[in-house]
Amino acid sequence: MSNPVLGIIGGGQLGSMLAVAAKKLNIKTVVFSDDIDSPAEKFSDEFIFGEYSNKDKINELVNKVDVITYEFENIPFETLNEINENKPVLPKPSINRIIQHRLAEKDFINRLKIRTTQYISIENKSELNAAQQLIPGLLKTTTLGYDGKGQHLINNIDDINNLKIDLTKGYILEKLVKLKKEISVIITRFSDQKYEIYEPIENQHEDQILKYSVIPAHISDKILKQSKKWAIQLAEELKYVGTLCVEFFIDRNDNLYVNEVAPRVHNSGHLTINAYNVSQFENHVRAVCELEQVPTHKISNAKMLNILGSQIAVYRKLQFNKNEFFYDYLKLKIKEKRKMGHLTTLVE
Ligand code: ADP
Ligand code: MG
Repeated sequence: MSNPVLGIIGGGQLGSMLAVAAKKLNIKTVVFSDDIDSPAEKFSDEFIFGEYSNKDKINELVNKVDVITYEFENIPFETLNEINENKPVLPKPSINRIIQHRLAEKDFINRLKIRTTQYISIENKSELNAAQQLIPGLLKTTTLGYDGKGQHLINNIDDINNLKIDLTKGYILEKLVKLKKEISVIITRFSDQKYEIYEPIENQHEDQILKYSVIPAHISDKILKQSKKWAIQLAEELKYVGTLCVEFFIDRNDNLYVNEVAPRVHNSGHLTINAYNVSQFENHVRAVCELEQVPTHKISNAKMLNILGSQIAVYRKLQFNKNEFFYDYLKLKIKEKRKMGHLTTLVE
């Protein structure tokens, strides 16, 4: 049988890296994006530009591919469901529906007896005023947040009074964790109890945006085992197919919490391209296209730096050593804090 053609919804850097991984496996890709300047256009075989609600464009995609995946979680559930009626969407749309909503996501995780931060749903100011036990806390939009967007720090009553947002749109208040560290675990699940899991990655954020990722993470053996166990449990419970990332907090008393789950390849896993024999992107393509599962192992320790905004101009002029791998996302517009590229350095 010939290789399937893979549709990718979303045209950012994650879509680009998926397309590159697919090409290596001889899989053709069609990227569908609502951004005419999608970087992934340059790395894919075909590109469809259109709104995610445009039925003609959805049909065009469906007719051109055999299986469809996505590089970001905020695609309307209706769109994914409609596509899924004709061609398989992986991970399943029902998974995306849970995870793209912070409340549904946290309820789901807690039902599995996996620890998250304490949280409540907020729809008006009086609910917020009554939630003293969760303050200081972070007020987050229940949907569409990324890179810290849509988040408000609430330290006291003044912060509540000064809020200029429409709470009826749906928010969640999370107790602020006194962070010692953040880690993530990336897992690619193929089928029941069949998965490849990467070791925990230590992540450092600046202004709620990922700045550095490093392996190995400097964590206790107990946290290492617990984080992997929870990632496996989450993937199995969701009957997930493809690559999934679990973001964790570790507090100052060494308690582990799941922060959130990303139903997709993840920024912290960029270092897997150079540090492992099979990257998170290649494993994702292998899983959703039902290719052979290859035992995945680390080749080298590594650290990754995210290059944001105008910093990219500096890196474009640099020369790199043999152990350094620079990725330019080839985005047309430089914006402050926008992820423009990354640099992975293999280390001892
Ligand atoms: P996003 O969807 O924007 O990635 P996150 O919930 O992961 O949203 O928040 C981004 C970052 O903000 C986290 O990685 C962490 O550094 C910080 N943060 C978020 N929630 C909390 C919390 N409850 N306590 C402490 N830090 C938090
Ligand atoms: Mg996050």
